[in-house]
Amino acid sequence: MMAKKEFNAWTAVQMYCPNCGTLSVGYKDEDGKCHFQCKKCAVVMVRSYKNRRHDLIEITVPQGRERLSVS
Ligand SMILES: [Zn+2]
Repeated sequence: MMAKKEFNAWTAVQMYCPNCGTLSVGYKDEDGKCHFQCKKCAVVMVRSYKNRRHDLIEITVPQGRERLSVS
C-alpha cells in the first residue's frame, strides 16, 4: 500500500506587500497557492506558482480602500 503524504497544516511564507511594502506573512494551501492579507493596507494577495520562472500574484483591494502605489 502506497503511503500518501497528508496535508496537515498550512505552511507560513513571507512576502512584501506590493501595495505598501510591509512584510506580510501568508500561508500556502494544499494547491500551492500562498494567501496573504496585509496588516497595514488590508489588501488581499494570492500568489500562485506557475513554473520556475513565473509566479502570478493577484491583488484584491477591499471596498472603501484605494491602491497606494499608482503608476
Ligand atoms: Zn500593504
